[in-house]
Amino acid sequence: MRTVPTVLLVEDEPSIAELIAVNLRHNGFRPIWAMDSVSAQRELDAALPDLILLDWMLPGESGLTLAKRWRGHERTKAIPLIMLTARGDEADRVAGLDAGADDYISKPFSTKELLARVRAVLRRRAPQAKDEALLISGLRLDSATHRVSFLDQALKLGPTEFKLLHYLMGHAERVHSRGQLLDKVWGDHVYIEERTVDVHVKRLREAMGAAAAMVETVRGAGYRLTAKPELVPVVEAPSHIA
Ligand code: CA
Repeated sequence: MRTVPTVLLVEDEPSIAELIAVNLRHNGFRPIWAMDSVSAQRELDAALPDLILLDWMLPGESGLTLAKRWRGHERTKAIPLIMLTARGDEADRVAGLDAGADDYISKPFSTKELLARVRAVLRRRAPQAKDEALLISGLRLDSATHRVSFLDQALKLGPTEFKLLHYLMGHAERVHSRGQLLDKVWGDHVYIEERTVDVHVKRLREAMGAAAAMVETVRGAGYRLTAKPELVPVVEAPSHIA
């Protein structure tokens, strides 16, 4: 699992970018610098960061335009985003927040303030503790001990299957496309084939035994973990092969 949070820094001014990058690095983040909208988009296509710091005034497309576009796309809409700008008046502030920014920092700012805002936004966006145990219809996953059980029977899962189940249980009843699962479970790379997801879902179901049917295939859409097929038999009923 990734431990160092990545921050995509979109800033055309090298001296400001350097100052922010150095401070991020010294405080446990991995900064990725993009100096314009084109390189920012290229970085986003390659991997999703944990947070975006986005300058408003950029050559070419403005930060505001980028924020609106990224908020409108399924793949990027949930990434925490902080706008940086020299434009401090209230109308601009409102425009930034309307475009989907989580927060807004006016230049000049102190690096201390910047780091505090970055941490606050990341905390807000990740409300559930990493160590909580998840329990759904007898299926229990404890992320602190890495144990999974179904009706108190221990299940043996590989590391990828564990991460996949952790994500599905943390976002139960919702359908996730293969692309979304790659982003969330595999660490964001678009270069992994979507078929990889199917392989690990199959392994996960095999490891889940009697709870296997809780991982549903949603035709044409992806996968979902559901509490509904409670206590279904191990053998897949023909009715499931719709
Ligand atoms: Ca600028």
